[in-house]
Amino acid sequence: MATENLSTPSLNTPGPARASAHARSSTPNIIVLCGTLIALVMVGLCALVLYQARLDALDRARDTSRNLALLAERDIERNFELYELSLQAVVEGVQRDDVMSLSPRLRNDVLFDRAASARDLGSILVLDASGKIAIDSGSLVPRPGNFADRNYFSVQRDHPDTGLYISTPYESRLRDGAPSIALSRRLSHPDGSFAGVAMLAINLEYFRNLFGGLSLGPHGAVSLISHDGVMIMRQPFDPHVIGRDISHADTFRHFRAADQGSFSETSSIDGRRRLYYFRNFPNLPLIIMVAEGEEDIYAAWRRRTIIIGSSMGVLAIGFIILSFVLAAQFRRRMRAESELQLLARTDGLTGLHNRRTLGEILDQEWRRARRTRSLFSLLFVDIDRFKAYNDAYGHQAGDDALAAVARCIGDNIRRPVDTAARYGGEEFVVVLPDTPADGAAQVAEKIRAAISDLSIEHAGSEFGRVTASIGLASWRPERDDDVSALIRAADEALYDAKAHGRNRVMQSSPV
Ligand code: GH3
Ligand code: MG
Ligand code: MG
Repeated sequence: MATENLSTPSLNTPGPARASAHARSSTPNIIVLCGTLIALVMVGLCALVLYQARLDALDRARDTSRNLALLAERDIERNFELYELSLQAVVEGVQRDDVMSLSPRLRNDVLFDRAASARDLGSILVLDASGKIAIDSGSLVPRPGNFADRNYFSVQRDHPDTGLYISTPYESRLRDGAPSIALSRRLSHPDGSFAGVAMLAINLEYFRNLFGGLSLGPHGAVSLISHDGVMIMRQPFDPHVIGRDISHADTFRHFRAADQGSFSETSSIDGRRRLYYFRNFPNLPLIIMVAEGEEDIYAAWRRRTIIIGSSMGVLAIGFIILSFVLAAQFRRRMRAESELQLLARTDGLTGLHNRRTLGEILDQEWRRARRTRSLFSLLFVDIDRFKAYNDAYGHQAGDDALAAVARCIGDNIRRPVDTAARYGGEEFVVVLPDTPADGAAQVAEKIRAAISDLSIEHAGSEFGRVTASIGLASWRPERDDDVSALIRAADEALYDAKAHGRNRVMQSSPV
């Protein structure tokens, strides 16, 4: 019976080892958490970038609208300045007797400069106080016609302080109904009374050509509107809209609220949401408005968002799935490792702790008993005449009997702290921490009786059945005591049991 020192460095060290096991068991959750977190951060960043791209698209659209409006406004203002100068020349000319006394041809040459033949200009006319044509840029003999009904005439007649007036759109009676607007100025007698009107007609074709080449997307529009809210020109062109009063529309209220600005609004006409940009002309009573459909503004952005967003979504989901797979693999590996560890600690034949584990447990429990100054008991169990058993029934039967005895020992120790281990061959050790000698003797007797009660036939034994002898030792360890002394004492008690006839429990003399 071997009694060598079983103390080995403990693998069961409670502190750091348990902490590291705990850390390992929480690793799969950390993997899943990190994977999900990274996926969420990726999705969040992508959403942020896409949102920024959406804002950029809106900014770009606003810039484009502003640039368009500015260019159109400058073109219109420059032309109107020239027209105004031409009209001013007529007003001044008709008030000069020397000019008016010239022959009609020379007078027309003086009054109407080359601008009168510009492509988009209609007629330049001087109307007398009754609205009849007095001087006509288009003919040396004034064409017949009375325009007292036109507002460019009536406004000048009824409001002497009007200055330059830009009329609402009308259909020209001299030019086959061509849509036009007129600039007009009042002519006064020296006493200030109304003498007539000088007017210059501009074909709306000019604005139509100006706006015609602009590309604003399928739902975009450019409009030129008078301060009074009358539509002068609109692109896309619709003859029914020209001359319409929109002064009561919500959008128009925005136009008059500031010199320039932009806003988004849903159209009451077609229900589409548009980004509107407007500018009030600095020197003319006109407003230019550029509108772009929001679905046009965001079309490219939306396409990109669908592609990038769905790719990112797939990537994020893939990432999360991957982290779950990794965590599951990690868990599987941990399970396999712990199974291996268990195998390494267990005796293959009996399923009890093996000798190495016994060493660790003894070491640990002995130190605890020393710390708490508690009684510590140990049983040495040895099957009687087992060599004879093997010889009589064969090695396989021997193995079966060994396993049955081991089960019997395991079944008869109930407290969780009690442990049974195979010491080697047909010898077993039972560790009973915090157990006094009489308690340990009861456990030992229970084990002995249970083995005997197995009634495994053993012709070579004096008892006719498989029995075991048990040596018991109980110690209260002192500071310098070593566990090997306790093992030795139990071994000696076992020897006594053998010497006193086997199948019995003997206790080492108390210390
Ligand atoms: P004693 O009553 O004095 O203990 O006699 P014993 O024959 O049991 O003691 P001994 O030490 O002479 O012989 C032990 C025997 O146990 C030797 C071997 O045949 C048997 N044995 C040891 N390990 C195993 C095992 O794993 N399987 C089997 N079948 N037999 C084993
Ligand atoms: Mg033996
Ligand atoms: Mg034996």
